[in-house]
Amino acid sequence: MLTVQAFTFNPVQENTYVVYNEKRQCCIIDPGCYFASEEQELKDFIEKNGLQPIYLLNTHCHLDHIFGNRFVAKTFGLLLYLNKLEKPVLDYGPAAGQLWQLPFDNYDGELQFLDEGDVVKIGEDKLQVLFTPGHSPGSISFYCKEDKFLISGDVLFQGSVGRTDLPGGDFAILEESIKTKLYTLPADTIVYSGHGDSTTIGDEMKTNPFVKMI
Ligand SMILES: [Zn+2]
Repeated sequence: MLTVQAFTFNPVQENTYVVYNEKRQCCIIDPGCYFASEEQELKDFIEKNGLQPIYLLNTHCHLDHIFGNRFVAKTFGLLLYLNKLEKPVLDYGPAAGQLWQLPFDNYDGELQFLDEGDVVKIGEDKLQVLFTPGHSPGSISFYCKEDKFLISGDVLFQGSVGRTDLPGGDFAILEESIKTKLYTLPADTIVYSGHGDSTTIGDEMKTNPFVKMI
């Protein structure tokens, strides 16, 4: 069984997730830690709980989701997993950092690519990779069928959806991703988003003002 721990980091208030099993193996998804105190908070949680990080995953590579990639990769000896269409977004990170006056050092290690149908195995537990573009060209979501949760990145939020005005964003594609990949999941699936509180697929299908399921 997988347990999800959330952190909210950096001035953009991005949610970072640590997902771990009973054997204390974990993956770190979208480490947004920007300040040294935030890096320490993440490291302390992992050490105090005796966790062994085995994967560094990005749902997509907007600035606020990648600040901590380099720190996590170096601290725990991990490679970065992402969709290949996010490579240009990752590469643009430092320029975006300058623009937003949030400079940072980008991850510069080897890239491992994930696509629809891939499965990230955390011991016996599994996260299915769903390709859910629209907010960003290579956005992916991580779905755990057994434990009924989804890490949605910035695709779907409580009462909202990801913005589509950034490079490579497209509302029609985002809507299609949500309707065909997310609203087809069981209604009681918990959605852990890249910003704000968690929600469920059923609640969003009923009440989300941006993408309705009629
Ligand atoms: Zn984003």
